[in-house]
Amino acid sequence: MHETVKTTCPYCGVGCGVDAHLDDGRLVGVAGSQDHPANLGRLCVKGSALHETVDPAGRMRVPQVDGVAVDWDTALDTVADGFRRVIDEHGPDAVAMYVSGQLLTEDYYVANKLMKGFIGTANIDTNSRLCMASAVVGYKRAFGTDTVPTCYEDIECADLVVLVGSNAAWTHPVTYQRLVAAKRARPEMRVVVIDPRRTATCDIADLHLAIAPGSDAFLFNGLLANLSERDAIDAAYIEAHTEGFDQAIARAHREAPDIEAVARSTGVTVDELQTFFDWFADHERTVTVYSQGVNQSTSGSDKSNAIINCHLATGRIGAPGMGPFSITGQPNAMGGREVGGLANQLAAHMDFEQPGAIERVGRFWQSPGMATSPGLKATDLFEAVESGQIKAIWIMATNPVVSLPASDRVREALQRCPLVVVSDCMQETDTTACADVLLPATSWAEKDGTVTNSERCISRQRGFIEPPGEARHDWWTICEVARRLGFAEAFAYQGPTEIFREHAALSGYENDGSRDFDIAALAGLSDAEYDRLAPVRWPIDPATGRGRQRLFEDGRFFTPSGRARFVAITSTAPASTISAERPLVMNTGRIRDQWHTMTRTAKAARLMQHIDEPFVEIHPDDADRHGLAEGRLAEVIGEHGRYVGRVRLTRAQAPGALFVPMHWNAQYSHSARVGALIPTHVDPHSGQPESKHATVAIRPF
Ligand code: SF4
Repeated sequence: MHETVKTTCPYCGVGCGVDAHLDDGRLVGVAGSQDHPANLGRLCVKGSALHETVDPAGRMRVPQVDGVAVDWDTALDTVADGFRRVIDEHGPDAVAMYVSGQLLTEDYYVANKLMKGFIGTANIDTNSRLCMASAVVGYKRAFGTDTVPTCYEDIECADLVVLVGSNAAWTHPVTYQRLVAAKRARPEMRVVVIDPRRTATCDIADLHLAIAPGSDAFLFNGLLANLSERDAIDAAYIEAHTEGFDQAIARAHREAPDIEAVARSTGVTVDELQTFFDWFADHERTVTVYSQGVNQSTSGSDKSNAIINCHLATGRIGAPGMGPFSITGQPNAMGGREVGGLANQLAAHMDFEQPGAIERVGRFWQSPGMATSPGLKATDLFEAVESGQIKAIWIMATNPVVSLPASDRVREALQRCPLVVVSDCMQETDTTACADVLLPATSWAEKDGTVTNSERCISRQRGFIEPPGEARHDWWTICEVARRLGFAEAFAYQGPTEIFREHAALSGYENDGSRDFDIAALAGLSDAEYDRLAPVRWPIDPATGRGRQRLFEDGRFFTPSGRARFVAITSTAPASTISAERPLVMNTGRIRDQWHTMTRTAKAARLMQHIDEPFVEIHPDDADRHGLAEGRLAEVIGEHGRYVGRVRLTRAQAPGALFVPMHWNAQYSHSARVGALIPTHVDPHSGQPESKHATVAIRPF
């Protein structure tokens, strides 16, 4: 019997709808959903190989304690007893969770509720910290809330699209395909790519600004000053809808007194800058898309606000084809933000600093003792594991021994930690190797719930095949541990539908319109309605049940004054500086056909055909200088670790800089974990690590 199940792709933040084709219950193929607003029928190569990655090989099948297979009750008792013992002896802040933008919103919600509302600690952070925490800070400082004002259609109907720190052609391929199609239909549309590397995304660029690594804020401060000088700002909009312009423009003028100063700071020519500034001034419909090249920086928050400042100064926000648009990396980074997945957030876009928010969430949950202050952010959290301050940690759906900065130290810290619990769908990862307790989790195609993509669109992910062995859903596992900790009543969910209804109800609880995230209209969904839920962008109008394409059309923001805030930016250089010992700057990122640490995408032979081994991209002049040749192996040596990869010579890479991919893990290469090379320098506001700028040495291997 043939059947089609509508679900979503589990890889990137584009959040494409997927039609999964089943024959007699077996997944035989996938296609892009024509009716999903994110992709309108498209899929990229990763998404189109989804059916090739669901075989059960390598899956974790049974719970394990100290390497021995046990039944679920034993494993759950071990986790709950271990957490209880640590909490009783050392207090709730001695336990932690580290979760993932791969979790569904319902999983994320109960994890956050357990830690912040019932155990009473905010020591729960997420790998989304590595992805978009700086963008969150940028939005909150400017708008008062973590609100993406735009949608994908805005990219298509813009006259100028500026991509900053984004190789969208490889990292957000379907969004890029939509941009390519729009430019083909309207060749007069301008595309500017701002990136130290010449990437595949530059193929459609009318202008590529190969800025010096980390100089984005100089560039956008320079743009703001230039817009002001040529009187290309929207004075009426600034007057009516914003605050802080005078300070921001004074700072920008001081930093960028003329275009020559901007050229010196960014390393691009005056002519190139002039073209960019002219185009930005002349195109009202401008969207600035930014991604990890902006966020993964010690000044990522300031870079975000430098970009947003230019949109506020020109009034280009809240209308079709306009706005600053941070595109997230993971499929549910946004959903995690909605439920408070970051250690400094509460649920439903509330946070610890908002007056009354802790009490409001506590009332709603009927919490016995809420966390009262923000918890430790990812790198701090693992340093607390290293120091012994945290004595029990539960890691869920992520592989921090590969992906976190100073990942060799992360591994050593986990090896010393008295209790490490890992929930994962795969048996062998660098992180599962450090676990005392392993909990087998369901994966894509097996689990039900929701995700939210980069344009605030909530979509259903649907389960349609049986999980292997004894794998269970993450929400169930969390609830079972909560029950054993004495919180049975608050975690008595029968399924994801009940969790989603509660999450939706909390978004509207005592919400007088001052909070952006409101999906209370979905709190009354029946089981059947939840099952049928069509993609919808939040916030949702309670009267019509319809979502919103974009926000801030009326010029009202969620700040106390209702005005958007300019942030005066002083540009700062990256934290690591080159030296005789480490003379090169290393950039990191994704390749086209792999996802994160490859635990799933490496299963598909055709995805491995694109690039099948770790590599180092380097300019030929640097290769000569360091005795390297195309196709030979090189060893990259960082502050904390080393990496071995195949040399690829390319003039797309600027002299003095390297690029290495972020994906390889111990299963596929023992010496190519990129996290080992990245120091723990973080943005002071967001805690996001500077994964795009580490200093390294290189030599033949
Ligand atoms: Fe999946 Fe992203 Fe590709 Fe869409 S663009 S199919 S969400 S990996």
